[in-house]
Amino acid sequence: MRSVLATALLATPLLAHAWGADGHQTVATLAAGLIKGTPTEARVAALLGDLSLPLASLWADCAKGVSPAQNYTYPSPGKYAECVPLETPARIAEMADYVRRNDKQCQIGLDEDSCHRQAHYADIAVQRSRYVLGFVGTRADDVAGALRTAILVLQGKPADGPPHFKSKREALIVLVHLVGDLHQPLHVGSLYLDPQGHRVDPDKTGLDVGSFTVGGNSLWVERPTQLPPAASGPAQPASAGFGPPKLHTLWDGVPEKLKPQRVDAAWLAQARKVRDNTGDPADWPARWATQSLEQSRLAFEGLSISAKQGSHWTVALPPGYNARAEAIKREQLTQAGARLAMVLKAVLAD
Ligand SMILES: [Zn+2]
Repeated sequence: MRSVLATALLATPLLAHAWGADGHQTVATLAAGLIKGTPTEARVAALLGDLSLPLASLWADCAKGVSPAQNYTYPSPGKYAECVPLETPARIAEMADYVRRNDKQCQIGLDEDSCHRQAHYADIAVQRSRYVLGFVGTRADDVAGALRTAILVLQGKPADGPPHFKSKREALIVLVHLVGDLHQPLHVGSLYLDPQGHRVDPDKTGLDVGSFTVGGNSLWVERPTQLPPAASGPAQPASAGFGPPKLHTLWDGVPEKLKPQRVDAAWLAQARKVRDNTGDPADWPARWATQSLEQSRLAFEGLSISAKQGSHWTVALPPGYNARAEAIKREQLTQAGARLAMVLKAVLAD
């Protein structure tokens, strides 16, 4: 969840989960299929215990239910169906402990209120051709940086964070989630817009905070009849009575055919074709972010954008946008599943 309007969100039951729970579980299910029967599978199980890979993939979003304002308790169990299996006392204590160590112990970015939340994304201008730490919208603890830190911890190398991981288990649990987030194109690439709705380049002109589109949360989608089939789960602001759908939310949802139950031998075969990464795994997330940034350019192509209306812009989707989005989502989920399996194999090798 991007805390766009903290007060509004506090007042609604909405908690937008990147990719939605389905997308994260699709990524984890693909990876689980790819490591099945290998030594990596046993090493993952040794760290996760009775937490399955698909359930672990939801942990970092469900941890957002821990309330710093209420002494790091978990005030609303049962609110999100997908989080219920993580709501045992021991598991809540584990999430609360992570949030406590990753709450204000970082430099908090634009429109954010807690360190662990901002590890789920970056906001690189679509004009950039690749992810490089230092561009506007990047941070050492953005989604690529946080993944790098998690990988270093799993490799047994020094890594102070933020985020701070107390154990390989915790680093693994967060990594499983963030590999998914990094492949959601709007978690990496961002539009920066002037008051007329024209693109600006914050790395050239300097950042005007008014041009920030909050990962597509400030882009409200017109003509909801053109939206892809509704995603299940809570990430549907329109149905939650929270105004028009946001472009970010549209990208978090996955259609029926991309849900975890649809991972089959054919899809796994597709994932096996994803090119192997080489070199130090700690350097892989930045490369993955570059690929996700490229996909975000396609996600923003052809949108008609209004002048700014208060805190948002209205976007109209071009014809054929649904099909384009679905193809990108399939590609990104496949890449994420394959890369998750690759990094697990590489960092849990011996
Ligand atoms: Zn997330």
